[in-house]
Amino acid sequence: MATQTCAICGAEINLLQQQQLGDGNYICRKVCAKRTMKDFDPFHATLHEVQAHIKQLEEGTKIWNQLFKAKPIKKKLKYPGRGYVAVSEELGLMAKLEPHYKFFIFGKYYLANVYRIADLYGYELEKGPAGIGDLMGRKSNKDVKYPSIHYYFWDTEGMADFHGYLGTQPYTKAKKYYDTLFGIQKTLGNIGNTWKNQMTAIKATANAIKTTVSGEGAEAEGTEAAEAIDRAMYGDRTEWIAKAEAAMAKYQP
Ligand SMILES: [Zn+2]
Repeated sequence: MATQTCAICGAEINLLQQQQLGDGNYICRKVCAKRTMKDFDPFHATLHEVQAHIKQLEEGTKIWNQLFKAKPIKKKLKYPGRGYVAVSEELGLMAKLEPHYKFFIFGKYYLANVYRIADLYGYELEKGPAGIGDLMGRKSNKDVKYPSIHYYFWDTEGMADFHGYLGTQPYTKAKKYYDTLFGIQKTLGNIGNTWKNQMTAIKATANAIKTTVSGEGAEAEGTEAAEAIDRAMYGDRTEWIAKAEAAMAKYQP
């Protein structure tokens, strides 16, 4: 039987202990594969991605323990959707949690990936197999049969997207929560903020077109226009970036 070498720790690994990665490398199941989250998919990951995720998880767990679990912060954590995705508006950070049990329920602890709220650009409802809502016969809530929120993050090494299980929570509630964080309010009753952003975007675009015609400073105007359109679509992230930077300045690796 062909033995392989673990590309991370260098251990000799027999067939049963081999985990092949998407790029053809092997890692050991015994140690290195266990340093990833359970829903990390090694089959489609490169060695670089696995290593980035391991680093993300180790650092994230430290950040969770140091910053999120501090008393005044912990009390105000929000769990949009359902468990296992925790948001701290104070820190400007959010965490994907994975529970582990040392000894029955008493030894419960979490591993965590930590993300900047500012980098969250997608939180979409994912169609999937029938969720718990259908099994429980609660068909009156049309969101219930869709079981998860697919989260996507910008500028993130390691696991840059994941699924947050919704359970019986309606998706609309979680979506509204995130939309509000970023000032993206699409219902007519709350048009204020978005409307202002859209006007800025339209004005900037119009200006960019004018300058392109006249040929002066077109590049700077174009960038400004693109940024304004981003703000209209994704909301203004300036405040969230500042919060995350302030929080991370207190973190001691
Ligand atoms: Zn290994």
